[in-house]
Amino acid sequence: MIEDSYLHKGMRRKLVEQVKGRGIKDQRILDAMMNIPRHAFIDSSFLKFAYQDQAFPISSGQTISQPYTVAFQTELLEVEVFHKVLEVGTGSGYQAAVLAELRARVFTIERIRQLYQDAQRIHRELGYQVRFFLGDGYQGLPSYAPFDRILITAAAPAIPEALKSQLVVGGILVAPVGRHDSQIMTKCVRTGENTYEITTHGNFSFVPMKEGLE
Ligand code: SAH
Repeated sequence: MIEDSYLHKGMRRKLVEQVKGRGIKDQRILDAMMNIPRHAFIDSSFLKFAYQDQAFPISSGQTISQPYTVAFQTELLEVEVFHKVLEVGTGSGYQAAVLAELRARVFTIERIRQLYQDAQRIHRELGYQVRFFLGDGYQGLPSYAPFDRILITAAAPAIPEALKSQLVVGGILVAPVGRHDSQIMTKCVRTGENTYEITTHGNFSFVPMKEGLE
């Protein structure tokens, strides 16, 4: 059982206020973050860090994204109820929970088995209905495509062609594009069968997207 006390809720309210203060306007996203016990996604000895607006290490050398970054990417994604959404880079499973709270049909893919297993366990305890896949996100999920939305949560050197092709026409893909320490948040709208419209949305820093399974 995951405990969610008044203390946790109090810390969470402050975090959500901070995220709002930094410019996130979509109330549905703020409500989603208010509902999710973020501490469940972080080692319990680091409770304090669960409710700071910072990225934090999880297992296998990966990180849970900063809450503001999660909110920012989610806002760019313009998720609607019942949308079929693919997340690349399950990590802790927190971002997938935000998408599930928005009542999207969420598919998430991770290349590290340990994270894939841990995130599923937490989601089961919290009662979310996300579908988890162990695999290489560069390939996407061709047998479940097309997706209304695709969210990449690791730094991609370029937007993978396979993922662009798994978007519906009118669909949106959001990804941090670039190498090393800094990437440019990129929004890609599939405007036609072979046409895409790209806009950029500032600098962020993610762990790298890697090829193949770990
Ligand atoms: N969305 C996560 C943050 C993930 S950090 C959260 O909410 O916590 C990025 C994750 O992407 C890491 O777990 C990393 O293992 C994973 N990753 C990197 N390359 C990948 C690939 N090709 N396919 C699937 N997952 C990948």
